[in-house]
Amino acid sequence: MENKRLDRRRFLKTGILGLAGTAAGSAFLNAGSAGSRLPLVEKEKFIYRTLGKTGIKLPIVSMGVMNAENPNLVAAALDSGIILLDTAHGYQKGKNEEMIGGVIKDRNRDSFVLATKVAYQKDRKTGLYPTDKNVQSFEDEFNISLKRLGMDYVDILYIHSFWVRETVTFEPALKFLDKVKKEGKARFVGFTTHRNEHEMLDAAVECGIYDVVLTAYNFRQKNKGEIGQAMSRATKAGMGIVAMKTQAGVYWDKERQEPINMKAALKWALQNENVHTSIPGYTAFDQMELDLSVMEDLTLTPKERADLKLDEGTALAGLYCQQCGTCERQCPSKVDIPTLMRSYMYAYGYKNLSLAHSTIQDLGARIPCSDCSSCHVLCPNGFDVPKKVQDIIRLKAIPQEFLG
Ligand code: SF4
Ligand code: SF4
Repeated sequence: MENKRLDRRRFLKTGILGLAGTAAGSAFLNAGSAGSRLPLVEKEKFIYRTLGKTGIKLPIVSMGVMNAENPNLVAAALDSGIILLDTAHGYQKGKNEEMIGGVIKDRNRDSFVLATKVAYQKDRKTGLYPTDKNVQSFEDEFNISLKRLGMDYVDILYIHSFWVRETVTFEPALKFLDKVKKEGKARFVGFTTHRNEHEMLDAAVECGIYDVVLTAYNFRQKNKGEIGQAMSRATKAGMGIVAMKTQAGVYWDKERQEPINMKAALKWALQNENVHTSIPGYTAFDQMELDLSVMEDLTLTPKERADLKLDEGTALAGLYCQQCGTCERQCPSKVDIPTLMRSYMYAYGYKNLSLAHSTIQDLGARIPCSDCSSCHVLCPNGFDVPKKVQDIIRLKAIPQEFLG
């Protein structure tokens, strides 16, 4: 492992937390946004890994920008040594990409790595693309994304959310990825997965087209062992692996009374050296400092192990749905409950109602749960599915414009 340690004392002395909210803080923020940057941390003390055959060297902590709205936070992340910014066409209905575009416009293009994602409507029940579709929809979205970002190209372009093998080899998608690579609009290509992850990683290796996979990976997943093995096979084949959902729903409970130990959760994921970098989402300076501090030492302390309740396995349901699909098979209407549960996590865990809403909207115009008088769906992982479904389904009736 290429271990380079963060100098904690220096970081705290000059770091984000000590500056934010003070007069010095505004000087720092101005410096970040104006492009004359302060040497806030000793970047050589970070832990770096190489993103597979892309050859891109990244700190093991990157930035998932999805929930962030403050451009000064993104600027501060870059100034602190973060290199990879991860966004998507759909985040905050495009405002996320626009905000990033504003932050990076005066920066040296070689000083950051940019990843975005496009989606393409799939059949929610089968996970398959319609057979009569072509590459145009992908291209239209991606060209808008480039415009918002103010860039001629991105470093990594992902296609959102694969969970069945057939999508990995869907010809229009592969043609699109090949085209944007040849045109120089994307240096590297990949896809994201937060369901059936191990199979998707293996399918990516077999396909041979993808450079990077962005996969859910955390201490609460039932299939984490299988994902770990698949990641090992993928990295041996030269693929880059980026981990998301490392913090497993943020809270153990819906009431948000019992937060998951974020630092410990991130350490757990990064202990696997086949994870080349991670994209925890942070929306505040203290969260960023916490995530960066993980690079001091990836060893889990006894207290951190206890906080993660590792000995209790996956029995504690919390907010993290395993996306296993067992529930879906029990529903007479075959509702895509895993996606509803993901929306639930976005709403109650991340407090990102806009993302929760758009996730539900993806399920189509009508979801039968609102008219269903009895739900007997049982989750083997302890999720109270009938209650959670009724909780989250209320969001569908709220117009998006009320949610920001
Ligand atoms: S709610 Fe339970 S059964 Fe359904 S996908 Fe999530 S973990 Fe699996
Ligand atoms: S509420 Fe009814 S339609 Fe919705 S998941 Fe439960 S059984 Fe299926």
